[in-house]
Amino acid sequence: MNKDFLEKNHLTEIKGNRFIIDMMYATPENIVMHPVYWEIGFGDCAYLHIDAAVRLQELALELEWLNLKLRICDAYRPPKAHQRILELLPIDGLFASKPENSLHCYGTAIDCCLTDEKGRDLKFPTAVDGYEKKYAKQLSKGITKPFYNHLEKAKQSFLDTHYAEEINNRELLKRLMTSVGFETISNEWWHFQLPKGKEDYPMIDWSTQD
Ligand SMILES: [Zn+2]
Repeated sequence: MNKDFLEKNHLTEIKGNRFIIDMMYATPENIVMHPVYWEIGFGDCAYLHIDAAVRLQELALELEWLNLKLRICDAYRPPKAHQRILELLPIDGLFASKPENSLHCYGTAIDCCLTDEKGRDLKFPTAVDGYEKKYAKQLSKGITKPFYNHLEKAKQSFLDTHYAEEINNRELLKRLMTSVGFETISNEWWHFQLPKGKEDYPMIDWSTQD
């Protein structure tokens, strides 16, 4: 991304040996089954507002101590990409109804999970975004119920003794992320954001950079 644009918007690229950058919407392995970030020319890098990036750097020390890594599956999302996602899957309630309502478009939200030292995902109650190919295929045909049922497991409040390891890992991720100042949301265990995002940070419109 253009250096001046990054600086002007206080965005920075997330790098480092504790982070695995694996932007889902730069691949077809996501709920809309399109590499949207490439389709709009954005690519597959993870950018965040510097205030969020600083917190991740702090987290990196703790991750190193624990022999863990953070797989980053989404970070800053251009409003244009959010718009495209809504066009591809026009189902009410699945995504924020407009870019203004998604903190990803402000560079202050991150979707992530933990991996071991070799980059193998720890077990969680669902995949990030609740993504599974079968649900993506069903959604493309307008079949929503199985996916919504599945998303019950994505809630921070999901408890089930059959998922003890998954829930422990969810709690570990939550503890790590909140210890450096991110906040959680109730419906998505993988999503973390800076507090008071919308009041303090403007939406960043990547498509206007040229
Ligand atoms: Zn998110």
